[in-house]
Amino acid sequence: MTTQAFIGIGANLGDARGSVEQAILRLADLPASLLIAQSSLFKTAPIESSGDDYINAVAELRTDLSATDLLLVLQQIELAFGRERPYRNAPRTLDLDLLLYGLEQIHTDALTVPHPRMTERAFVLLPLLQISPLITIPGKGAAQDFAGVVAEQVIVELTS
Ligand code: ADP
Ligand code: MG
Repeated sequence: MTTQAFIGIGANLGDARGSVEQAILRLADLPASLLIAQSSLFKTAPIESSGDDYINAVAELRTDLSATDLLLVLQQIELAFGRERPYRNAPRTLDLDLLLYGLEQIHTDALTVPHPRMTERAFVLLPLLQISPLITIPGKGAAQDFAGVVAEQVIVELTS
């Protein structure tokens, strides 16, 4: 059963832009999956975090991987980019979050889907809405309805 999944991508250490671009290439190469769409790259100041500006993007996949297996391969990609987790919200070379997995609502120790903070963050919502303006967030409603919530957050779309 192929499932539509959305991945949030963020980086703010080293060549953040390069990391996000490379990560999208890795997503395009995932087993049993197709990269359907990728947003523009966006730049935001860190929230509850430190360091340089973040580069963010959202990718849409269709995948035959389970949500659990998809998280595992995302974590493998993070590791390949040298991600360390010295403390919560530390600057990171690459962060890959499973935002949406079809219409599923998942609450396990390892995985919460929809990603719990996705409706509060412009750097997730805006790229998501760019590639999928009509998308629904299970349990929450139309993603578009949360655009007003994040309207104060400064976010810049990067052009080429
Ligand atoms: P955040 O992305 O929230 O800033 P981290 O990437 O450091 O924080 O958090 C990673 C942890 O979050 C992992 O241990 C993973 O099991 C858990 N997690 C829970 N739900 C998700 C999700 N939807 N996507 C990615 N990781 C998740
Ligand atoms: Mg994460």
